[in-house]
Amino acid sequence: MAYRHPARATTHRVRIRRIRVAGLLVVIAAIAAALGYQSLASSSSRAASPIDVPRSEHRGALGEAGGAVPDGATVFDDEIPGVANLDSALLGALRQAATDAAGYGVELVVDSGWRSPEHQEQLLREAISKYGSEEEAARWVATPNTSPHVSGDAVDIGPSDAAAWLSEHGAEYGLCQIYGNEPWHYELRSEAIDHGCPPMYADPTHDPRMQQ
Ligand SMILES: [Zn+2]
Repeated sequence: MAYRHPARATTHRVRIRRIRVAGLLVVIAAIAAALGYQSLASSSSRAASPIDVPRSEHRGALGEAGGAVPDGATVFDDEIPGVANLDSALLGALRQAATDAAGYGVELVVDSGWRSPEHQEQLLREAISKYGSEEEAARWVATPNTSPHVSGDAVDIGPSDAAAWLSEHGAEYGLCQIYGNEPWHYELRSEAIDHGCPPMYADPTHDPRMQQ
């Protein structure tokens, strides 16, 4: 009899181990599900941004010379064409604002500035495939003929705390959000210094400049 006890005990231990492994698998599955949910959630929140296509694609197609801006670029980065080719009055206002924002611990990052017509065309093509139709893409990305980015008159500012700072203080520099659906997109409206920013368009399709 005595020799059976260790055998039983071993079987029992194996069972416990199986139960533990099964429990571990449940935990792993739960973590995997949570991570999957997170990536789903983040991809759907990113859907609000028209410029979230991988930067490598921009580089591959057109590069910095066409207006692609490297991560973390600021309004002081003269050597980057996407910054240097901005309208000089807009750039001056941005630099004043960025200097003052730094005093609040906020850094203004240029996510996109001037773009070549080819770069804009590429963004539009990407937006059409992303949003599924030209009509929906037009709410986010203008054509090379109409985009204020191509003329050097618009800048997309990030991260969100910098855009929020500009939303509060931008008018003092003539920097205004133009479209309700694009809290990152700023243009120069010098009259805003005295009179405040003009009312926003809900999205670019309401902007008369886009009706060309
Ligand atoms: Zn923009």
